[in-house]
Amino acid sequence: MTDLKDKRVLVMGLGRFGGGVGVTRWLHGGGAAVTVTDRATADELAASLAQLDGLDLAFRLGGHDEADLDGCDLLVVNPAVPLDAPLLEAARRRGVAMTTEINLFLQHCPAPIVGITGSVGKSTTAAMAAAILATARRTHLGGNIGRSLLTDLADGSIGPRDVVVLELSSFQLEWTPVVGLSPSVALVTNLVPNHLDRHGTLEAYGAAKKNIFRYQAPEDALLLPAGDATLAPWADEAPGRVRLFGGDEPFALRVPGPHNQRNAQAAWAIGKLLGIGRADAQTALVAFEGLPNRLALVAERRGVRYYDDSKATTPDGALVALASFDAGRIVAIVGGYDKHIPLDALADALAARCKAVIATGAVGPQVAALVEARRRGCAPEVVSAPRFDDAVRAAQAAAASGDVVLLSPACASYDQFANYIARGERFAQLVRTLV
Ligand code: ADP
Repeated sequence: MTDLKDKRVLVMGLGRFGGGVGVTRWLHGGGAAVTVTDRATADELAASLAQLDGLDLAFRLGGHDEADLDGCDLLVVNPAVPLDAPLLEAARRRGVAMTTEINLFLQHCPAPIVGITGSVGKSTTAAMAAAILATARRTHLGGNIGRSLLTDLADGSIGPRDVVVLELSSFQLEWTPVVGLSPSVALVTNLVPNHLDRHGTLEAYGAAKKNIFRYQAPEDALLLPAGDATLAPWADEAPGRVRLFGGDEPFALRVPGPHNQRNAQAAWAIGKLLGIGRADAQTALVAFEGLPNRLALVAERRGVRYYDDSKATTPDGALVALASFDAGRIVAIVGGYDKHIPLDALADALAARCKAVIATGAVGPQVAALVEARRRGCAPEVVSAPRFDDAVRAAQAAAASGDVVLLSPACASYDQFANYIARGERFAQLVRTLV
């Protein structure tokens, strides 16, 4: 870290997810003179700022000022910052060196790195892979999953014999060409159109994702899903070995759904490559309880299982959840903030698979009308419960032993909650107080 000593570094985008805090602490610890700038105000960033308490830092919050680039040796950019932000344009004009928290980690990590990207399933696959690898080696899980591993680097807790699992988003990968580094093991879960508001085209989105293997060495490995027509051509561009995953015998899992079986197969491909035996992988996978708010079992009461899938903020996410349980046994809580997305395919699946649909939030009336129009006979039962708390109570009343109460709203939560996490917490709280 000697190269940071007395360097003037500007951190752009402190954010609320840990990356900005992690890199700021790391730069400060290395002796750099750090200024932190963010468009958000100190009030909005209170939780992140509290983690920097007591450090000798300069701040420019509630907006950016080009003057902070004067004498700046390095600009560390939060990957969420739009690439055409005026401060970035100014830095490019002035020739200021730029990088990101992930790039600094890739440059300084002494342990081999497994990188995981894709459109969906990244976090789950990364967490499953870390659980499998942890049966044999000290394993560190981080990246887009919400924890900066620079903190672990700084305190020396990542050693060369450990292994690191990094979840990498397309935004993070867009910046890795600056350092020309890729993880030694790279896995892509899948690729569907996503974030096209930022990347413009599917090709540009794919190009960012390809950075996960672009700088690999011949002995490195790229893992791709077998039978995926979109990703198959990527094998031709890989500088290292390519392995296909997905064809192995299914694992016994606690987490539901065919998508989680795919995630387990992906995680196992990583374990197998790094020398873990199948029996150990199975032990780790069956113990894996799932990540919060992603089809997580929060309680079982009177034979009814309650699942929190609050992170399903789109119809596609809810469709994945509805395919994960037996038809006719699902009591689904659906609705929330109105993003004006077509809900017809969702209504088809709700009508076909649910015993009852509890329609809630701002789009509740629309969901109720669409499902009612598709009812055959008296199923599914449709209940309108505009308030979230009432919706959870209605779901409990509609469910019998053997059923599943599924909070998979298909909508954002902003009509009644700060975010999907708060919605999931409220669900778990209500379920745990039901007798
Ligand atoms: P990401 O980190 O890529 O957002 P997560 O593992 O957090 O992915 O899963 C988010 C949601 O995506 C899940 O709740 C589920 O609805 C869906 N999902 C997860 N894995 C897959 C998969 N392999 N295929 C399709 N959908 C998936």
